[in-house]
Amino acid sequence: MSAEETSGQKKPERNFVVAIDGPAGAGKSTIARHLARHFGLLNLETGAMYRAFALKALRLEVPLEDPAALEQLATDTDIKLEPGEEENRVLLDGEDVTGQIRNQTVTDAASRVSVYPPIRAAMVKRQQELGANGGVVMEGRDIGTVVFPNAEVKIFLDAAPEVRGMRRYDQIGQHGHSEAKPVPPPDEVIRDLRARDERDRNRADSPLKPAPDAFLLDSTHLTLEEAVKAAEATVDKWLAKSKAAGTRLG
Ligand code: C5P
Repeated sequence: MSAEETSGQKKPERNFVVAIDGPAGAGKSTIARHLARHFGLLNLETGAMYRAFALKALRLEVPLEDPAALEQLATDTDIKLEPGEEENRVLLDGEDVTGQIRNQTVTDAASRVSVYPPIRAAMVKRQQELGANGGVVMEGRDIGTVVFPNAEVKIFLDAAPEVRGMRRYDQIGQHGHSEAKPVPPPDEVIRDLRARDERDRNRADSPLKPAPDAFLLDSTHLTLEEAVKAAEATVDKWLAKSKAAGTRLG
């Protein structure tokens, strides 16, 4: 994948990195969006890159269980993330695919292609380039462990699968259904989410797990607003500590 700058983006006001990891439906996107806005950072959703790549594999009918073919495809794929107010704009080989990567087929395919080391290596390289100058909140599954192991602030967000499943169910109800494609029942949403979790947590390369120095935030019994506040307090605490230590924050 080619390495280009996030051209035309507004410059972040700070230069530290906040890594947010955790399973699907834990509230990562909401929290990342808030922290980015609140602290003047760019918000980068790494899952969108795996999703865009999966979309390309589906379109070209590259078998999702053929690592060699997928690796070849990755060498010939350009994915760009452009941070926006609400969500990232995702460009796949120059085409804006932002509106095409959140459906269930792509969601499932993204989870499958992300187990392969060469695919991960290509994505991680690009993510490290995007965050090289700091000033970002980056969310995903391996940000604090692999992409930015030296991130200044690391948050690992979790919640019970049933709670995450219900949040996802509500989200789909609000955005992701039509008459032709009704909202799947909650137990199906929870089942899909568990299957994705299993794959993320048990893959050999970069499994989903908290970095040893991550702040663990379990939002099972919190509202999203409360979880947002707790995440904000974690960043504030680090800012106060580094100010006391005389660190330059840019
Ligand atoms: O976060 P999101 O649900 O958009 O991610 C889509 C899929 O991409 C996840 O199910 C996960 O398997 C994969 N992913 C990953 N590493 C990341 C981000 C996402 O493996 N850093």
